[in-house]
Amino acid sequence: MSMTFEHITLGQRVLFGSGEAAANLAAEVQRHAASRVMVIASAAKRELAERVCRDIEVALWFDDVVQHVPVECAEQARAAAAEHGIDLLVCVGGGSGIGLAKAVALTTGLPIVAVPTTYAGSEATNVWGMTENRTKTTGTDDRVLPGAVVYDATLTVSLPVALSVASGLNSVAHCVDALWAPKADPINQALALEGARTLAAALPRIAEAPEDLPAREQALCGCYLAAVAFASAGSALHHKICHLLGGTFALPHAETHAIVLPHVLALNAPAVPDLAARLACALGRPVEAGQDPADAAVAALDQLRTTLGAPTRLADYGLTESDIPEAVQRAVGAAPASNPVHVTPENMTALLTAALTGAEPAPAVLTTR
Ligand code: NAD
Repeated sequence: MSMTFEHITLGQRVLFGSGEAAANLAAEVQRHAASRVMVIASAAKRELAERVCRDIEVALWFDDVVQHVPVECAEQARAAAAEHGIDLLVCVGGGSGIGLAKAVALTTGLPIVAVPTTYAGSEATNVWGMTENRTKTTGTDDRVLPGAVVYDATLTVSLPVALSVASGLNSVAHCVDALWAPKADPINQALALEGARTLAAALPRIAEAPEDLPAREQALCGCYLAAVAFASAGSALHHKICHLLGGTFALPHAETHAIVLPHVLALNAPAVPDLAARLACALGRPVEAGQDPADAAVAALDQLRTTLGAPTRLADYGLTESDIPEAVQRAVGAAPASNPVHVTPENMTALLTAALTGAEPAPAVLTTR
């Protein structure tokens, strides 16, 4: 079969070094010739952000950071940036702070330097997201891609194990979903599989010893590979489901990804056996003789999640049975037409109910397209 695709590589400087965040950030501020820097960091991350920003002049600290970027927060941050004549946005923290910086960049074109402290991966994508009237809208725009990312694994050591696990599985979800996303190609699939391999090696070490700095570095590398793959391949079924759950039912982002992922994998893997086999291998459990590749991939993810003590029930984060019909309707409406398995109200009801209650991922029943 011939191979035809168009692949775009996003341009971004990555500065990676443990203990180097302050120096690397100062160099980036200088490179941008910026004199009016706005630092976006939640109040909880202020002390950490002050350490990272110790060598730069800060014109404005902005700490009204809320997950899923409510549109009102975006508007406040945009107004503050305009009022203070800001010429560079620096965000220190997880995906929520980066998301707010992106919302400002979307309308102002201001450049962003991102200093991530979780494994959400938003720093490496040109994807923005905002929530209004219980609906989270996402889009892509190169103006929101941070011009530079400063990775420093020492900043992630304080991330509690439960959050490290959930955030790390959010990254694994970028890898898995990228395999069959609308713009999946051999380049982003290779990045996704290497990201999955790296994360599957690093996360159990972090769960066992949260201060293991080499493991934290490895996880950040895996997170970057995963996010680059996701940005290139586009948003697939898993991300569409998690975005609607976050925007409409205010569920926490990382935990939602961690819970929903095995169910989407179980649904899609039977339709893409070659990719399932490569994923199983990347997750450290190659397909055994006579084993179905989809079963191998599902078992490999299940083993990783069990080792990590990953969360299992959306009910623990506030979703209720009465929310399922609306979630199903939104999921069916948002599902990409190219999903390997035809998405129906029936399979979405089964999937979301299983994710709600923590039931085993539904046995993979192949629905013909
Ligand atoms: P988050 O930024 O809300 O952080 C989660 C929690 O972790 C917060 O309480 C935060 O204070 C804490 N935290 C962060 N770093 C810490 C550290 N080093 N030590 C201790 N605590 C720390 O959550 P998140 O999962 O990083 O990001 C979620 C948001 O990012 C969502 O809004 C999601 O939509 C967005 N996102 C966007 C993209 C994209 O490409 N656009 C990709 C991934 C996530």
